[in-house]
Amino acid sequence: MKKHNFSAGPSILPESVMKKASEAVIDFNGMGLSLIEISHRSKEFIAVMERAQDLALELTGLKSKGYKALFLQGGASMQFLMTAYNLLETKAGYINTGAWSSKAIKEAMLFGEVIEVASSKDRNFNFIPKGYEIPSDLNYLHITTNNTIFGTQFQEIPETKVPLIADMSSDIFSRSIDYSKFDLFYAGAQKNMGPSGTTLIIVKEDLLGKVSRTIPSMMNYQVQLKSDSMFNTPPVFPIYTSMLTLEWLEENGGINQIEKHNKTKAELIYNEIDRNSAFEGFAAKEDRSNMNATFNLVNGVDGSLFDSLWNQADISGLKGHRSVGGYRASIYNALPQESVELLVDVMKKFEQTL
Ligand SMILES: *Cc1c(COP(=O)(O)O)cnc(C)c1O
Repeated sequence: MKKHNFSAGPSILPESVMKKASEAVIDFNGMGLSLIEISHRSKEFIAVMERAQDLALELTGLKSKGYKALFLQGGASMQFLMTAYNLLETKAGYINTGAWSSKAIKEAMLFGEVIEVASSKDRNFNFIPKGYEIPSDLNYLHITTNNTIFGTQFQEIPETKVPLIADMSSDIFSRSIDYSKFDLFYAGAQKNMGPSGTTLIIVKEDLLGKVSRTIPSMMNYQVQLKSDSMFNTPPVFPIYTSMLTLEWLEENGGINQIEKHNKTKAELIYNEIDRNSAFEGFAAKEDRSNMNATFNLVNGVDGSLFDSLWNQADISGLKGHRSVGGYRASIYNALPQESVELLVDVMKKFEQTL
């Protein structure tokens, strides 16, 4: 039986996507060949790549607006350095909202001056900083829109005059924000789009080609764009599966529709965290993530019975990250509402045993 998968990543994908993806591994489009044994330059795979890029731009409302989509390898972690490599000439600003932002900062420091425009480190990243000033001489400002580990999310996108860059690994395609506020954003596929192995980058083309350093081909967005994400062999299976997820999203009403669904799920879990005397939320209420709900046991409550209850209920992946402890319910696009309802029931049952 399929478990209720609350894993933070790699994470749940729609069942129909899993089915189609596994069928394509056996026989792709009735070709008598597997998706993973055909040339990436075959017309069949080029069509997949084009469709995936097209859907990514379409869903974010960025088609014909000067943006391009890339599917590369190396994960979001490679984008930490690739963004700086391609865009940091003198000085860049970062808002430090967690472990992933901190890693992005560390990589960027290899390429130029980096300033922390704001940080929530002093409170173990349980909130999103507000009311800071953004210097006007930055090459760009980098933010992490959703902090997967700590369960915080930018509810408002900062207004900037400098280019805005974002790591959207754990909330891309989950809510209807104005994506055109960003000049570049990226996401590892494995949270809300596909298996690990590919990273989506959406970039405004006129942002590029402005730094004076020489950039190695594989690290160079312009080279990658010129070869249409096929400078070398692309990760065909993750890209195909991502395409299927984006098709699923489009067929189900796109981002507007999934956002409603995600809000309902988030309300269910947060209402229970706030109501239930055994638990308390980790993140500041106004900054709570609609993708990763983090919560801890109230002081003095023993959680071992809770752990066995959710395990018995076929719930998987609820353990919090070691830097936060407690629990984390990742409620990505593909997680059904029934799974959240079940978790809420288990939390109620646990409270009754106290
Ligand atoms: C998971 C995650 C990453 C790391 O992604 P990789 O693809 O493993 O490099 C980076 N940023 C955020 C916000 C994440 O959730």
